[in-house]
Amino acid sequence: MLTDKQILIMKKALIIGTGLGGLSTALRLAKRGYTVEMVEKYHQAGGRLNQIRKAGFTFDMAPTFFSMSYEFRELMASCGMDMPFEFVELDPLYAVNFAGSKRYYQIHKNLSRLAAEFENIEPGFEEKMKRYLTSAGKLFHDVEDIIIRRNFNSKMGYLQQMARVPWGHAPKMIRSVWSELDRYFESDEVKQIFSLVAFFLGATPFDTPAVYTILSYTEMVHDGYHNVKGGMYRIVESLLEELKKEGVHIHYNTEITGYTEQNGRITGFTDRVGNTFTADHYVVNADAAWFRNAIFKRTEYSTEHLDKMKWTLAPFTIYLGVKGKIDTLHHHNYYLGTNFREYAGKIFKNQISLNKPYYYVNVNSKFNPESAPEGCESIFILCPVPDLRYKPDWSDREELARNIIQDLSERSGYDVASNILTQTIYDPVDWEKTFNLHRGSGLGLAHDLNQMGAFRPKNYDEKFPNVFYVGASTTPGTGLPMVVISSRLVTERILKHDRVI
Ligand SMILES: Cc1cc2nc3c(=O)[nH]c(=O)nc-3n(C[C@H](O)[C@H](O)[C@H](O)COP(=O)(O)OP(=O)(O)OC[C@H]3O[C@@H](n4cnc5c(N)ncnc54)[C@H](O)[C@@H]3O)c2cc1C
Repeated sequence: MLTDKQILIMKKALIIGTGLGGLSTALRLAKRGYTVEMVEKYHQAGGRLNQIRKAGFTFDMAPTFFSMSYEFRELMASCGMDMPFEFVELDPLYAVNFAGSKRYYQIHKNLSRLAAEFENIEPGFEEKMKRYLTSAGKLFHDVEDIIIRRNFNSKMGYLQQMARVPWGHAPKMIRSVWSELDRYFESDEVKQIFSLVAFFLGATPFDTPAVYTILSYTEMVHDGYHNVKGGMYRIVESLLEELKKEGVHIHYNTEITGYTEQNGRITGFTDRVGNTFTADHYVVNADAAWFRNAIFKRTEYSTEHLDKMKWTLAPFTIYLGVKGKIDTLHHHNYYLGTNFREYAGKIFKNQISLNKPYYYVNVNSKFNPESAPEGCESIFILCPVPDLRYKPDWSDREELARNIIQDLSERSGYDVASNILTQTIYDPVDWEKTFNLHRGSGLGLAHDLNQMGAFRPKNYDEKFPNVFYVGASTTPGTGLPMVVISSRLVTERILKHDRVI
């Protein structure tokens, strides 16, 4: 008599893409007994959760921290594994500096310590923050299980589920993150700092629905932010080690460009040089909207349609190996200007000069000393910029990088520019080309109400019953924990399809 696992060994899944979504799905399926094969266009695994090594320095390529660490625990537990990497909660979460000031606001999770940072500029801060976070927290717990961590089979089913969310939260669907903050706080600095969560979603606080104030609750109260000992790429390395034990084979430098079909089912995907990969199930980890356009040529996902959808901002990233230790920099730093409203309102459409950009700086060597040679710092800079629809030409990239580094030198009081040992720049064109990100959008599709839940590209294909999707642009959304949830949701679909659950 065959066990479930032995029966499933007869089934094979091909996963297109080795981002966190693809790797976690591969692990879940392999542990359930599926034979798994993966193809990846880049030369190494991880997708955006990647790593750059250069001249003795190691850089996290994009994600530098994550929330909702319990989603990683769920992944490992569901695969019968111990946590294969060590994560450490951040405290303070990050530091924020405004142009023209030497001061860094330290964002602590502890409310009284946090209140002390703002006591001069926001009277009654602690009480106000408590009320703000309580309201965001109620919403988070009211939607986490019934909306975020769930599959939907139809828009109707999704709307029915939404109707179960207490009506008291409805105004947060209409208001923006900024107007929600406006109801609690007076100080512009406070509002700007706590609206940064919208930028984590690749958008601005003026066009992100206030439902996403739940991110303030997850960062400040619920589970905080976490870093990984040894660098964020440890997540990928540890998943690869486990996949190897499960016999999962990965073909690198292999880009899927076409497919074959028969009787309404996919029979194989083909790569650029004509190799065909076959399986029973296909899981697409490439961007779910981009793939439906580029590979399946679906009219409703044509380039014209994709361009009309709302995409998150593009990243402009710089990786610097710097000689010298910079004591004035913190582990995670945000550098803001003095024209926040104008900047946020215009940045999407390239209507603002990038001479005085807003940017984030991560000094990996503060937390992982081995990421830089002794006496040096490993620095990653992220500046959100317009995507390629609005700024297709990045021939001015060196100039923008120079501006940012100059600004960082002035604000940190350290001559970063003269001490650079190695520099790598990724502009939106690089991001688009490297990982097939539509118009270079960094976090994928935005999270407007009409691009959420059942209104987001589905995690199963509209036409082929043996094709599924996982990752940032399908449900539930972008960011590392969301992508891990996405892998659970798609695995659930595949297991249901195979009548295992
Ligand atoms: C600059 C930046 C900073 C970020 N910071 C954070 C952070 O601090 N915390 C956080 O939680 N999240 C962060 N994110 C978001 C996070 O990185 C993503 O949400 C997540 O990594 C997406 O994973 P994924 O599996 O959906 O897709 P990806 O990582 O994009 O993986 C998809 C893979 O598919 C491959 N692929 C695409 N097309 C094909 C094809 N045709 N054939 C074969 N392979 C293909 C790609 O090369 C890629 O490897 C950040 C993102 C960026 C860009």
